[in-house]
Amino acid sequence: MRDEFSLIRSISPANVHQPSLHVGIGDDAAIYEGAPEMEEVLCVDTMVEEIHFRRDTLTPFQIGYKSLAINISDLAAMGATPKFYLVSIAVPPQWSDREIKTLYRGMAECAAPYRMDLIGGDTVSTNAKLVVTVTAVGHVPKGTRLLRQRARPGDVVFLTGTVGQSAAGLELLNKKGLHGPFTEEEELLVLAHQQPQPQVEAGHLFARSGYRIALNDVSDGVASEANELAEASKVKLVLKANTIPLHPAMETFSKEQQLEWALFGGEDFQLIGTAAVDAFASLQQLAIQRGISLTEIGYVEAGSPVVELEEGTARSVLKKSGYNHFAK
Ligand code: ADP
Ligand code: MG
Repeated sequence: MRDEFSLIRSISPANVHQPSLHVGIGDDAAIYEGAPEMEEVLCVDTMVEEIHFRRDTLTPFQIGYKSLAINISDLAAMGATPKFYLVSIAVPPQWSDREIKTLYRGMAECAAPYRMDLIGGDTVSTNAKLVVTVTAVGHVPKGTRLLRQRARPGDVVFLTGTVGQSAAGLELLNKKGLHGPFTEEEELLVLAHQQPQPQVEAGHLFARSGYRIALNDVSDGVASEANELAEASKVKLVLKANTIPLHPAMETFSKEQQLEWALFGGEDFQLIGTAAVDAFASLQQLAIQRGISLTEIGYVEAGSPVVELEEGTARSVLKKSGYNHFAK
């Protein structure tokens, strides 16, 4: 029988970073003080073993890391600063206490750059698979939050960083297993899958710019996220296939394969958004100053809420999960 109390004790953080935290782990609930000039931003995400992750592609440390990174990415897509997280975990007998502690170390590592505090959670046993549910709390100055519904005809569609790398990494892990061996390039792709970097700084830049910006994070692939922007804003997005920034380490794969990963792979945790043409030009300047790459990948038109992909002179409707000519 697992001793839940000693497990909770062992995963409780030794120190606190956020001064607004009044009560952390140890009481019935956590208490922090919100600032009057801020809006509180909350999100939650659940990862189930064998469905959202597998032990032969992620180590316990990386499962922890990724389960928090997914949530931080959602906060980034609102322009928010991460502050706290809570973890509900259902532990099956085949997971040792040591592995669970390692999973929490992975979360702590992901939290560290943002000085996020672990402030609570829940621990239960299960006979099935490991389930990790992370709730993240952040805040954003009033009037600066970034929503999906703000795209307007004439806007530029933009993307931070590169895409496709996580799906490429997963393919390599599926082929070669957790321990490879991998070339240096392959290692970059594998790590992009295992420990993705949420774009908090870019989210801040967008929020503080004061421009009208529609924003979403790329958790399910560019095609899916672009469709969500189109639906929320009731506009048409046109993406130019040859402008989508692909991770350089994918070069050895065919262009079609790279584009497929970029559009439908997901878990790259970049930010996709739209802004007016003038605003985008200034945003790009600001981004360069901060070492953030920002690429124009298309434009917004009036029309029914769909996404179209421009390849040369051809245009096809880009569904969430595939091109229309081979959509499921
Ligand atoms: P209660 O019965 O009041 O819910 P628990 O014994 O479940 O108390 O939890 C005690 C404290 O430990 C609480 O502060 C709770 O938030 C925290 N906690 C419990 N499980 C976890 C976990 N898996 N991760 C982080 N904190 C946890
Ligand atoms: Mg409890």
